[in-house]
Amino acid sequence: MRCPHCLHPDSRVLETRATDDTTKRRRQCLACGFRFSTAERLERRLPLVVKRGGAREPFDRDKLVVGMRVACRRRPVPAERIERAADRVEQRVSGLGAEVATADIGRCVLDELRGLDPVAWVRFASVYLNVDSLDAFAALLAPGTPEGPAPEPVGEPAEAATEPGAP
Ligand SMILES: [Zn+2]
Repeated sequence: MRCPHCLHPDSRVLETRATDDTTKRRRQCLACGFRFSTAERLERRLPLVVKRGGAREPFDRDKLVVGMRVACRRRPVPAERIERAADRVEQRVSGLGAEVATADIGRCVLDELRGLDPVAWVRFASVYLNVDSLDAFAALLAPGTPEGPAPEPVGEPAEAATEPGAP
């Protein structure tokens, strides 16, 4: 990082402070002595979302969370679990390339909702994937199809296994 005062390329670090996602450094220019700060953040490479009509827009985690909350409305799903599911979707989407279709994001969300709540999963499947015929919807629900309900939720927290009466 060049000195913002004289553009000298070298500086020494006076102080380093790290938080969860940022490392801040107080620096001093080796040439003119000017002091300045730099911040280092983990680079998140989120793709552009390609909508049905072909328009592109930046990936928006807030929209993702809102969509999942709507699907989970009046269902016994804690907000914290929706947030963690959104984290996982964001992580998966960031691995899909520079551009990703809304339908691909929808499939990631479906995978998460499947483990959260069956009603939320069906709501989201019917709206987000734009299922327009009963046959298509029935195929979606059939076990064994890629979109079908999983026999067991994967990656669930231990609480599911510690219900009263469980061995
Ligand atoms: Zn300088």
